[in-house]
Amino acid sequence: MEKKNLDWANIGFGYRKTDKRYVANFKDGKWDNGALIDDDMITMSECACVLQYAQTCFEGLKAYTTEDGKIVCFRPDLNAQRMSDTCKRLEMPQLSVEQFVEGVKAVVKANEAYVPPFGSGATLYIRPYMFGINPVIGVKPATEYQFRIFSTPVGPYFKGDAKPITIKVSDFDRAAPHGTGHVKAGLNYAMSLHAIVTAHAEGYDENLYLDPATRTKVEETGGANFIFITKDNKVVTPKSDSILPSITRRSLMTVAKDYLGLEVEQREVYLDELKDFAECCLCGTAAVVTPVGKIVDHGKDICFPSGMEKMGPITKKLYDTLTGIQMCKIEAPEGWICEIK
Ligand SMILES: *Cc1c(COP(=O)(O)O)cnc(C)c1O
Repeated sequence: MEKKNLDWANIGFGYRKTDKRYVANFKDGKWDNGALIDDDMITMSECACVLQYAQTCFEGLKAYTTEDGKIVCFRPDLNAQRMSDTCKRLEMPQLSVEQFVEGVKAVVKANEAYVPPFGSGATLYIRPYMFGINPVIGVKPATEYQFRIFSTPVGPYFKGDAKPITIKVSDFDRAAPHGTGHVKAGLNYAMSLHAIVTAHAEGYDENLYLDPATRTKVEETGGANFIFITKDNKVVTPKSDSILPSITRRSLMTVAKDYLGLEVEQREVYLDELKDFAECCLCGTAAVVTPVGKIVDHGKDICFPSGMEKMGPITKKLYDTLTGIQMCKIEAPEGWICEIK
């Protein structure tokens, strides 16, 4: 298999069309078997439910080339399960875990030429998504849906060579209590766009969203969960019903406990205790593990002792161990690595 001649090291986090994508259709109460197709365009009614009422959800995962040339992906069954949970909340039909994972494998195999080589720093980002496609004008769920998976080679989400980023405490809220913050609905991102454009215009890399009910507790950013390290090396992550259950974060908590022997804790984290932590990072498929150097709360700087030049020592250990597992350099817990080729 001849790899595409791309500048893998400088590829950036953007969309680049690849050769094949997976499509399955839901009609008359059931999913068809799905197939790989060439056409990257979608034709639908002007009144499709997704266009009028944003009935759409998505997932994101990556495929990696290992040192010995295998292609693997990381815990795709958890993405499948999470998409099912999202579909339930959005009145969309669930797809079986098996069909989801088979679709992911088929897309990666068919686009093998775009899977970045080992050591390039790039990966193949895989985007499964589903949307209501038939015309709907009264507010109700669609009856016909399309599930698709495309893939695109990507570099790091935050540029700057793993340099710590600066985050702003947002004046906007991300997810209401009892709302949709815990599921991967497109609508959660639509409402975050104004907030991220505002933060970027002010010179920040990301937003920290607070819990909307009291605005005293840390939730997450627009697309990644938080992890904090205490001065005595305890790994703490915020607990809330409106945080998206990041697979990266859940994996890192296991890594911290079982691989690094650290104490881990999921609990409510208050804004006014951030100044006491030693390190902070963001985690997610796109962010991987991104160190946070500074959080700015309305003119007040909260600077972590790890500084603005490099990852804190525990963050670095988390990053090295997780990426080592993903690239098959470190033995993974049972079931974490899905071998594709
Ligand atoms: C997707 C997402 C994450 C990260 O989840 P992973 O499973 O680790 O990729 C975190 N927060 C939000 C809001 C997300 O949409």
